Amino acid sequence: MTPLATLLVERIREGGPISVADYMAECLLHPVHGYYTTRDPFGTAGDFTTAPEISQMFGELIGLALAQAWLDQGAPSPFTLAELGPGRGTLMADILRATKGVPGFHASAQVVLVEASPVLRHAQERTVGRGHDFGLRWIEAAHDLPEQPLFLIANEFFDALPIHQYQFVNGLWHERLVGLKDGALAFGLAERGERMVGLAPDQQSEEGLIIEQGRIARFVVSAVHHRLHHHGGLALIIDYGDWRSRGDTLQALRAHAYDDPLAHPGEADLTAHVDFEALTSPGMAHAYTTQGEFLLRLGIEARAARLAQSVTGAALESHHAALRRLTHPEEMGSLFKVLALTRAGAPLPPGVAP
Ligand code: SAH
Repeated sequence: MTPLATLLVERIREGGPISVADYMAECLLHPVHGYYTTRDPFGTAGDFTTAPEISQMFGELIGLALAQAWLDQGAPSPFTLAELGPGRGTLMADILRATKGVPGFHASAQVVLVEASPVLRHAQERTVGRGHDFGLRWIEAAHDLPEQPLFLIANEFFDALPIHQYQFVNGLWHERLVGLKDGALAFGLAERGERMVGLAPDQQSEEGLIIEQGRIARFVVSAVHHRLHHHGGLALIIDYGDWRSRGDTLQALRAHAYDDPLAHPGEADLTAHVDFEALTSPGMAHAYTTQGEFLLRLGIEARAARLAQSVTGAALESHHAALRRLTHPEEMGSLFKVLALTRAGAPLPPGVAP
């Protein structure tokens, strides 16, 4: 048993089963044993690799898309250039490098990183902080973002936010809980069932169906909506998931392999597919496309050809592989989606506009 499993078993023995959301929150961000609070999980030696770690092209194109949106909205100054859950800081470093030549962009930008993990804040300081002064600072939560125009990126952040799960049994929705069976962590269902309003037709009334609710994701995105609505700007949210939740998508990754989500609490990455519709709101404009389409429309092939001129041999092979990995439908191209949010009436950014 991991040290966190021992603590959770004790907690459940005393206080009863906990929600899947509480379980995820403890596993990812427990102050002493949490997955993100204790380690840098990225790269080949870690548990998973993300798009910015695959190739610099990802961050460069996103930087240029954000800068273009900033210009299209009249180059507001000052503005917040924010990232949610920046990991090692690679994406923000690539964004800043690629936008160096955009007149006024750096001079007007205040860079804000929303990060809960002290270990990763250090990594970000090394990657992003080096040699720059953008008034770079860290905040705990999106609700602390400054009240000014906001240009924001979140890559593989929302999938790490805790979700609640419900299962449809005998005509009612029962919350899925983490309890104990023979002294070990096990999934179960709340005894009391409830009705649920506002479900879409494809989420209703199928015996055994599990649906997920990202209440924390909705709360976080509401802070982003608020800034966009009142001050303008753009949010680009990139993650794996679908427009609407259906089925159990809770998954654990450990050393690049799938793991049982209850097997190694605190020592495996835990995520759930993002439910993109839940991140939109009727008052906001949005556009939604696949990562592959987005990067191709932003010109990743031309950028890749340019970079290919300066590498040879194994480096060239891995450069070609990176392009494929980011864009091909059988790799990240269609599983990953891009949601762009702006206030109603503002132009949608390049890459997602039809
Ligand atoms: N965007 C990065 C890393 C994704 S991993 C990349 O693409 O490589 C998820 C990131 O979100 C980590 O930096 C993690 O520490 C952070 N994180 C997870 N939950 C968080 C929360 N509730 N508040 C703030 N940061 C969080």
